[in-house]
Amino acid sequence: MNPVDMLQDARFTRRSFVAGSLGALAAALLAEELSPLTAFAEDSAPAGPMDPSRRDGVIDTICEMCVWRCGVRATVRDGRVVKLDGNPDHPHSLGKLCPRGQAGLLTAYDPDRLKYPLIRAGKRGSGLWRRATWDEAMDYVAEQMKRIAGDYGPQAMVFSSTHNPMQVQFENLLNAYGSPNYGTQRSLCFNAMITANQLTFGVDEPGRDYANARYIVYAGRNLAEAISNSETQELVDAIARGAKVVVLDPRFTKTAAKAHRWLPVRPGNDLAFFLALIHELLANGDYDRAFVARHTVGFEALKAEVEPYTVEWASAKTEIPAETIRAVAAELGAARPRAFVHPNWRTSNFINSFQTERAIAVLNALIGAWGAPGGVCEVSGESAVELGAPPQPPYPRVSALRLDGVPWKYPLVPLKLGIFQNIREAVITGQPYQAKGWFIYRQNPVLSLPDRGRTLEAFNKLELIVNVDISMNDTAWYSDVVLPEATYLERFDPLIVVGDRVFIRQPVIKPLFESRSGLMIFQDLGTRLGLKDFFQYKDELDYLGYQVKPLGVSVEELRQAGSVKVKLPPIDTYLFRTPSGKVELKSSLLAAANQDAVPTWQEPPRPTAVAFYLLTGKVAQHTQFATQNNRYLHELEPGNALWMNPGPAAARELADGETVVVKSRSGEVRVPLRVTEAIRSDCVYLTPGFGHVSKALMTAFDSGVSDSDLHETFTDPVSGGQALSQTFVTVEKV
Ligand code: SF4
Repeated sequence: MNPVDMLQDARFTRRSFVAGSLGALAAALLAEELSPLTAFAEDSAPAGPMDPSRRDGVIDTICEMCVWRCGVRATVRDGRVVKLDGNPDHPHSLGKLCPRGQAGLLTAYDPDRLKYPLIRAGKRGSGLWRRATWDEAMDYVAEQMKRIAGDYGPQAMVFSSTHNPMQVQFENLLNAYGSPNYGTQRSLCFNAMITANQLTFGVDEPGRDYANARYIVYAGRNLAEAISNSETQELVDAIARGAKVVVLDPRFTKTAAKAHRWLPVRPGNDLAFFLALIHELLANGDYDRAFVARHTVGFEALKAEVEPYTVEWASAKTEIPAETIRAVAAELGAARPRAFVHPNWRTSNFINSFQTERAIAVLNALIGAWGAPGGVCEVSGESAVELGAPPQPPYPRVSALRLDGVPWKYPLVPLKLGIFQNIREAVITGQPYQAKGWFIYRQNPVLSLPDRGRTLEAFNKLELIVNVDISMNDTAWYSDVVLPEATYLERFDPLIVVGDRVFIRQPVIKPLFESRSGLMIFQDLGTRLGLKDFFQYKDELDYLGYQVKPLGVSVEELRQAGSVKVKLPPIDTYLFRTPSGKVELKSSLLAAANQDAVPTWQEPPRPTAVAFYLLTGKVAQHTQFATQNNRYLHELEPGNALWMNPGPAAARELADGETVVVKSRSGEVRVPLRVTEAIRSDCVYLTPGFGHVSKALMTAFDSGVSDSDLHETFTDPVSGGQALSQTFVTVEKV
């Protein structure tokens, strides 16, 4: 049966739900109110009572429209969700939801949702499927996984997922199965930032004290559009209080529009800017001598290294005037320690992004921002809270090398981060051994990995591709078995820790169609694989019962309250988990690995005179590759266009709105042009997440183009981060 036919029921017209509320939503990045979607919910939701133990009303749960996990108050009537609001009692929402969070209703009630298990009935990507029962689909997957483990060893199965609360049980499955090959999107996102902060401070990502900050520098972090709800609100409040904001970005983003200074830096040269700031602060003695003396190592080596990195030198690299760099250094020095350079998030830009992140971390140490009001700090949380777990035996010993090369080729990449793009390359080359199967959970590598053609080439090498998701995304479209998961409004997940509180994601409606929670899918599969001992819980509530044991509450109490407060051990702010126990301005681990141990200039590649840097970023209405089929969000941002400065557009006789051909060494796309002053003349910009190839996504299919058709694959040898902005493109008339 064709999924397009199969998934057609419960259709509705876009206009039926758009009326009235879109203007307000489009106008507000963080609106508090959104028109209820009652009409759509009533029209399309299948009949069926919600969990009988729950009553209609307002139920607290956790948003999953992005990874920020805001608190949601869901209004339920007659077993249907009719409204989502921000929970004022949750530190990530502070009473508000962003557009994606508010539109979450249409993810649950998306008529294109996967409704029941499917087994491929034609060539991969042909769209031919047959409906299967859960028993049949799970038996098939278990048999194939057992066959692969028996014939090639469990290491021949690759597993991958997004970063999500269910990871703990997904990882439980792959660890029990015995595969070392697990990929997440982290190397496409923040490997450089986390590796740099680990080597400098011994933490993953320093927290920020916006409430007391007087001066904030961002290098590419675009909080007004790449919304992290509470942090975006904190930035807005800080600006209102008078904090000065500097934004380095080749694009005039909405964050840049709110900044005190927008510095349109040449891509890949932020490192030169930060090295010059370090040079200037040290040359002027404008740094925190007491902090440096007490808490750091490697100051003299740093000082010697930055000697040549003058503001004039950096100006030539960055194309930011020398007097501006000097002024920023003076302002930062005057505001210290109530100032910070934001550590960034997605730092997969250039091979030198790791050194950029090291320079930022070192700069935060030099201005004494660490532990200071208005500076950066260690964040307590997930790792400090002990949750219970069902009993289980130890995992089997795994001796096979990891396909991503960590740590045997990449000793400094944290094991938990890995190098996702390398797994795909290893599947293609068959080195150091050939993978035979890939189990994908809530992830879309066909759209997220650079060079889509290579990802499909890797898929052709595999005997089994399994996908668990809520919709037939592009990766599911090329899979062999697709298993429907319940959405975040319909299921329990493992508990979520934020600071000193533990939150519960709980169903506010009954799972629609035949969808199931990940907790039950992985338990069922584990049992069929002969791994039942690793999944010793009866159901979701039983699993959560184990988790809450150390917290002193029952699951029901937690469900009613939405969260429980826990006592965290005090943090010793100045106990740094580095080899020296201090802030390592000169990293001993980098030195031991024969890498640049103090922040050092690394020249990034540049496009030729006829080519452009290809930039990608975010819009406030979409999350990566996951929300384009949400009809509410589609109406707000239906596709993408290529941004180009008027200068190069005129030189090529290209007009605004005209379709152009964009080419890289990986591929080409045809896309409308948007001519705008809001971008440097040597760059073009494309919003990712569009260009879906799955015909089962009736809204997103064929809307816009995908940057994955253009991006080339480059891997930073230190952090394993992918260098997305090192792809250069030409743009021509059709
Ligand atoms: Fe949901 Fe928006 Fe919060 Fe993300 S930032 S969790 S999408 S409300």
